[in-house]
Amino acid sequence: ETVVELRDVSKVYPPTTRGGSPVVAIDSVDLEVEAGDVYGIIGYSGAGKSTLVRLINALERSTAGSIVVHGQEIAGLPERNLRSMRLGIGMIFQQFNLLNSRTVAGNIAYPLEVAGRSKEERRERVEELLQFVGLADKAKAYPDQLSGGQKQRVGIARALATSPDILLADEATSALDPETTHEVLALLQRVNREFGVTIIVITHEMDVIQTIATKVAVMDRGRVIERGDVFDVFSNP
Ligand code: ADP
Ligand code: ADP
Repeated sequence: ETVVELRDVSKVYPPTTRGGSPVVAIDSVDLEVEAGDVYGIIGYSGAGKSTLVRLINALERSTAGSIVVHGQEIAGLPERNLRSMRLGIGMIFQQFNLLNSRTVAGNIAYPLEVAGRSKEERRERVEELLQFVGLADKAKAYPDQLSGGQKQRVGIARALATSPDILLADEATSALDPETTHEVLALLQRVNREFGVTIIVITHEMDVIQTIATKVAVMDRGRVIERGDVFDVFSNP
């Protein structure tokens, strides 16, 4: 089952300076992500990786092409119809993007409040997620009292709160040291294996792809220049 499919997708930004050229961030990209994949997207800075992720959860609209998520065409879909689609997609970030004024539990509960879940439902779900990410003893702590690895575990718990079946990880370990990176990647692997969540991992680090991904697309200047099983792509001399 294909959960994310891009066909001939392009994204062109208007010129950023007067008289400048339009920026082709994504150039005729095809991508197929199957249910249960850990799909890596690797490329240097500016290759178009973040733009691709923002197109998949419709934070950004494509200039051309077709984007199908969970069997639904999202290009051209009105904003009000995107909400339910976004509940099925979780996201984690390089800088964690936690709310500093809320506790760990409060951060994890946030998407459940937005989704209108009852107080009792929120309490149970937060408890479950705190256990899963190993932070049961930090429920009442604030983000600035946590290490980077702990913050990202909160980010993962928050992303999973509404039980999405797709998780988008945008440079999620780039701010972490190598040991913490491996802890967070191991947790993501459990998310994939225990819950069957499809994970799309955006990174500029080869090591991340080799640790966790099964498939990879290599991006350069807005294009996918190579793709396939991780083993095949990286064993080519
Ligand atoms: P990556 O995530 O691989 O570093 P990005 O998707 O952030 O790449 O950027 C791809 C290209 O699109 C870059 O040239 C970048 O400068 C440009 N770009 C990204 N966002 C915008 C924007 N909002 N307006 C104009 N250009 C943008
Ligand atoms: P904040 O002040 O940051 O919003 P709250 O203490 O109000 O944090 O908690 C936010 C949410 O987290 C509530 O839905 C609450 O039920 C839940 N929650 C708080 N503490 C725990 C805990 N120890 N275990 C499970 N859920 C908790």
